[in-house]
Amino acid sequence: MSFALAHGSTAQRQPPPAGGSHRVQFYEDPAFLFDVVARFLEAGFQVGEPAVIIATEIHRKGFKARLKAMGFDVERALADGRLVLLDARETLETFMVWGMPDEDRFQRVIGAVFDKSLRGAGGRRVRAYGEMVDLLLRDANPRGALLLEAQWNDLGRLHPFSLLCAYAMGGFQTQEDAQVFHDVCTAHAHVSPTEAYTQVQFEEQRLREVAALQQRSRALETEIEHRKRVEKELLAAVQLREDFLAIAGHELRTPLTALQLQLHSLTGLVRDGGNPRVKERLARAQSQAQRLGDLTEELLDVVRLGGGRLLPQVEDCDLAELVREAVDRSAEAVARSGCQLQVFAEAPVQGQWERTRIEQVVTNLLSNALKYGAGQPVELRVKAGADRATLVVRDGGIGIPLEAQARIFDRFERAVSSSSFGGLGLGLWIARQVVEAHGGVIRVESEPARGATFTVELPYRA
Ligand code: ADP
Repeated sequence: MSFALAHGSTAQRQPPPAGGSHRVQFYEDPAFLFDVVARFLEAGFQVGEPAVIIATEIHRKGFKARLKAMGFDVERALADGRLVLLDARETLETFMVWGMPDEDRFQRVIGAVFDKSLRGAGGRRVRAYGEMVDLLLRDANPRGALLLEAQWNDLGRLHPFSLLCAYAMGGFQTQEDAQVFHDVCTAHAHVSPTEAYTQVQFEEQRLREVAALQQRSRALETEIEHRKRVEKELLAAVQLREDFLAIAGHELRTPLTALQLQLHSLTGLVRDGGNPRVKERLARAQSQAQRLGDLTEELLDVVRLGGGRLLPQVEDCDLAELVREAVDRSAEAVARSGCQLQVFAEAPVQGQWERTRIEQVVTNLLSNALKYGAGQPVELRVKAGADRATLVVRDGGIGIPLEAQARIFDRFERAVSSSSFGGLGLGLWIARQVVEAHGGVIRVESEPARGATFTVELPYRA
């Protein structure tokens, strides 16, 4: 979008008046800006040209301080009208209409300021410095900024003034700013680069500097291309991982289901009067098949829940009942862990949640408490708050170091070595996805060797 085409009314506008009367200064450091503007004004004062500054308060202070440091009597110039200081924001607001500078109002407001300054100037020009365009750019209104630049150019044809505009280079950080930057430059008869460049004095040095900048820009473009390629490859690798997990999960599930069915029917066959050793081995095989099944489902959840994809299919459920059922199902694991389990979930806590997913959260937290609980007592508590239900799972086990407490809710993140404890590092990630999909939060409080307390808060309606 070019400057001329961007605004219907400016399409026929003239280019900036020749003769260097409209200049733009880019800057990095305000101290440099104070210097440039003070010298610009001072040069005018020396030949009797009055000055108008339309700037932010902090910059007006900077200009005054710099002029004073140069030995200029600022207060006197203000008193006799040779120097006029206006606030950029306040002045801007006098002519903005629906987020755009209004041409007539601008001409009236600013024209009047210049007329007044010119009155005592004996036919000389006014030196003006303005930051209103920069303010519009900072307000994320580049169209307004460029329109105002064009209006300044129009005003320059009616009033004899030389205008200096300034833009902080920080406002043009990204590739997307390149067009606005180009348009800003086009709107001015003279462009002064930031302090990084302006101080070069000799032509030969200047050319070297330009060559060095060209090299830098080429190198940066190559780097951007390179990074774009890498980003594409990384995205493809992530996609590949997700595809792999989905395919592997499904492929594992099919023979596993068949195996579980076989084990189930075998168990039925030896139920009455079978060999006790066979029975015991079959029970172990079944429990391992169950574990494999759970791990496969966890892997499939990476794909199913990835990127916040869960839209809960809610129904009426009672969190207290759901917790009691999960505890019943885990009786064997509780016994194996040696932890003593206390459950405080008597009174119903009704809400609208996706039952199987909330069961998954409870089971994951409970099995972690048993796994990492070091045989110490584990406590499960359900509470009904004013606008949300709370589930607390507390153990007295190994605990979690502070540095790991945030990352354990991420995919495949663990705070223990896999040689000490088995697991994929997905249980808490799944719990977080489910809880957040219900509009809730999950958090942990813990200290190493002093156990962990996981708290889930769920709004009654997802
Ligand atoms: P997994 O248990 O399969 O590794 P999780 O996502 O359930 O995966 O847990 C992630 C990590 O958080 C675990 O590896 C463990 O380091 C830590 N963790 C989870 N629950 C507890 C707990 N109750 N006590 C101590 N550490 C825990």
